[in-house]
Amino acid sequence: MPVKGFFSRLVARLFPLTLKARMATVVILLVLGATTIVTTVALLLAERDMKSVIGSQQYAVLSTAAAYVDEQLENKRALLATLPEGLPPGAHADPGAMQRLLESRPIARGEFFNIIVFDRSGQLVATLRPDFNETRVSASAQPYFENTVQSRKGLVSEPFLSRLSGRPVVVLTQPVLDKAGDVAFVIVGSIDLQKSDFFGPINALKPGKTGFMFIMTADGVLIHHPTQSRLLQHINARPGYNRATEMALAGFEGWTEAKNKDGAEGIYAYKRLRTTGWIVGARYPTAEAFEPLIELRRRAILAASAFAAVAGVLSWFAISRLLAPLQRLRTGLAKIRDDDADIALLRMKRKDEIGELAEAIYSLTAERSEALAHARDNESLVRNILQHAPDAFIGSDQQGRIVEWNAQAERTFGWSREEAMGRGIAELMVPPAMRKAHNAGMERFARTGGGPLINSRVRVHALHRDGREIPVELSIGALRHGDEHMATAFLHDVSERVAYEEKIAAGERRARMIADSMPALVAYIDRDLRYRFTNDHYQYLLGLDPRSMLGKTVPEVFGPDLYQLWEDQISKTLRGERVHIERRSTELGMAMHMMVDLVPDIGEDGVVAGFYLMAMDITQRKEAELTQAASEKRLRLITDNLPVLISYLDHERKLRFGNATYQRWMHIDPTAVLGHTLVDIIGTHQYAKCAPYLDRAYRGEVVSFELRTLLHGEVRTLDTTFVPDMQPDGTVAGVYALSHDMTRVKAVEEQLIELARMDTLTGIANRRKFDEVLWQAMERCRRQRSTMALAYLDIDNFKTINDTLGHGAGDEVLKAFAARLLGTVRGIDTVARLAGDEFVIVFENISHPAEAAALAAKVVGAVREALELPGGLMQITTSLGIACYSGGKESQQELIARADRALYAAKRKGRNCYEMETQCV
Ligand code: GH3
Ligand code: MG
Repeated sequence: MPVKGFFSRLVARLFPLTLKARMATVVILLVLGATTIVTTVALLLAERDMKSVIGSQQYAVLSTAAAYVDEQLENKRALLATLPEGLPPGAHADPGAMQRLLESRPIARGEFFNIIVFDRSGQLVATLRPDFNETRVSASAQPYFENTVQSRKGLVSEPFLSRLSGRPVVVLTQPVLDKAGDVAFVIVGSIDLQKSDFFGPINALKPGKTGFMFIMTADGVLIHHPTQSRLLQHINARPGYNRATEMALAGFEGWTEAKNKDGAEGIYAYKRLRTTGWIVGARYPTAEAFEPLIELRRRAILAASAFAAVAGVLSWFAISRLLAPLQRLRTGLAKIRDDDADIALLRMKRKDEIGELAEAIYSLTAERSEALAHARDNESLVRNILQHAPDAFIGSDQQGRIVEWNAQAERTFGWSREEAMGRGIAELMVPPAMRKAHNAGMERFARTGGGPLINSRVRVHALHRDGREIPVELSIGALRHGDEHMATAFLHDVSERVAYEEKIAAGERRARMIADSMPALVAYIDRDLRYRFTNDHYQYLLGLDPRSMLGKTVPEVFGPDLYQLWEDQISKTLRGERVHIERRSTELGMAMHMMVDLVPDIGEDGVVAGFYLMAMDITQRKEAELTQAASEKRLRLITDNLPVLISYLDHERKLRFGNATYQRWMHIDPTAVLGHTLVDIIGTHQYAKCAPYLDRAYRGEVVSFELRTLLHGEVRTLDTTFVPDMQPDGTVAGVYALSHDMTRVKAVEEQLIELARMDTLTGIANRRKFDEVLWQAMERCRRQRSTMALAYLDIDNFKTINDTLGHGAGDEVLKAFAARLLGTVRGIDTVARLAGDEFVIVFENISHPAEAAALAAKVVGAVREALELPGGLMQITTSLGIACYSGGKESQQELIARADRALYAAKRKGRNCYEMETQCV
């Protein structure tokens, strides 16, 4: 409560003393308070009683005063009544007699201010105080006069201002009757309200010093009052209200308490005069009446204070004495706290509350010590656990300085505990790239004691002493230690796990990638028929978002009708059977040929946890298969009717295809030998001939070769080509073999070749044949170390023959010339026409170069002989160059060149001769 708090603070501020001082203060306050209350109550009660006593007393005094006034008035009236008794008879008609009467009664002079006598008409006839000018005075209009005359009795008048004296007066009257009983004179005695001794005794009765008495008529006109100026005025002429006055005017007699018109409290008493009905009043100001009581109260308070002070001092000593054991307890506790004493000190063996308190503190302290010891044990246990925890444990203060570093931290990060303690986490183990973020996090932690990483488990990289960054799993906790925040962290080196996870993740990514890139629906569906895995093909083939399918059941995704179609197959799969179906389906609104595989996922315990689904749209494949089947049929029809043996050998050299030619050529049913190896089909002998080529074909080469074989008892030439079946990766899956029967073609070809080696004009060998022959001859020379010669001939001036006799004649000359040469040389020698009129002769097996010269001479001589032509005989000559060869390192061209150079020399010599190349290589 704030008020209570305020007061307790105020008290503590005002009395910042010991408990002892406070207790003494409380005693003082209690004594003071009690005394004050008792005194005040007693005084209040006394005041109430006193008021009644004062009121009654005042009323009694007032009654006495009233009785006195009554008596005074009675006396004065009696005096006036006795005055006429001294009048002589007949004096009633003598005014002078009245004057004499008055003067003869000096006693009356003391009782009244003045005594005057009026005659019946109201004319003044006598006066005791002739100093006033009385002659002009007439009483005829005065009410008191009129009333006295009429009633013929004496009376007391209302107060009024005397015309004679000019003073406020009250008059008493006494009629003087004549013999007839009528009023002859009226004697009037006046009382001076201001000066008269009439009220003197009353004034002596006034209450207290400031109290006063007053008299007013029953109507409230003041007759007597300490304030002279108010005389003859109505009491209420002064503005204001006084309850007591009103009560008095209404007839009240007795005492009452009221405020006067100025608001001051007073005790009022009222009494009416028996004789005149006037009201005698007294006012006693309460303040004055109770002055002794107030004085009494002051003294009582003084006494109470003194009493309280004494009580305070006494209580101080008493409390000091009583609290002494408590002080000892306090000192003892301080000693125990400073470890200067044992807690047994607290066992005071007192039977009172302090003893109990000491005992309670002793128990509490003992329990606390035990709990502390227990806590210390626990702390050392916790520290031990942390120190030997299998994870690295690091504690840091809010500035990021390490305050805890366990054994595993030493092992994981390479820093010993001594090295790590007090160092900053950032510099020691946060990778440089992360430091900025780390420092910002620590700064926030220092401010708020929290952060996004607190109480969470994250994977980060931490720095090893050797600079390596190691992945760690980090859980950070925060606690408050005193005024500081402290962060705790468990770190677990997850390098191996990360590597393993990466491996798994890579595997999963691969699986996901494979599944997503497969042109098939791939899904894993659990026992409850919920999709747990779906690949991207769902989107492509069916327009379904594969991710939105996850968690949904098959009926939810495809509807109950479609599910019903597959229910049996799914149940079978869930029983552990594998299902493979290829069929045309229109279930999904598309005419598709589907191939569906359902593979149960059987756990180690044999329970089917779900199944894998792979569904492929094989519409295209099916169509392709049909197309291929049709094309294969066509192809087979074609190949079967080709005169070609067509085979396909797989990588094991087994026959996978053979056309109908097998049947026709080899009487082998190709379908019967499918899957047989080639060696089985054609026999080892034939196979040996093919094998080298086949090996090359399997190495990727297209190989063609001729094979002579026996078919139907005839030797046939088969032209076989092996074509490797190259795969995109460069491997050879098999080999196509195509064999043509080349027997006839071969014969024609041989003929053609032969034709091609003959000069069509002369029928002798042409340049091609010459080249072969020369090569073979030179080879033989080299082998046999024999000698040969090459003659190069050119008809002399042949152009002239052409020019003069025509080209046809020229041709005839050429033919005849060839024939002459053939006729001249030996059978083993070869004559060939190279071009135009150029001829060569290859002489083999000559014994000596001289023989060559002889042969040359012989040829040149033979040509000189006239030729028989259709147009008659003709004489021609030739020039000849000859060169020998004895198996040296010389090419054909070089040999030919030498012979040609010799021919050139012969031509230069004049023609119709020969020239011999001297050098024989
Ligand atoms: P040389 O003594 O220097 O040999 O003189 P030549 O006139 O014989 O000149 P060359 O040997 O250079 O001329 C060969 C001629 O042979 C040129 C060409 O018109 C002619 N000729 C080439 N082939 C044939 C052929 O087939 N028939 C005919 N009639 N003439 C041919
Ligand atoms: Mg010539």
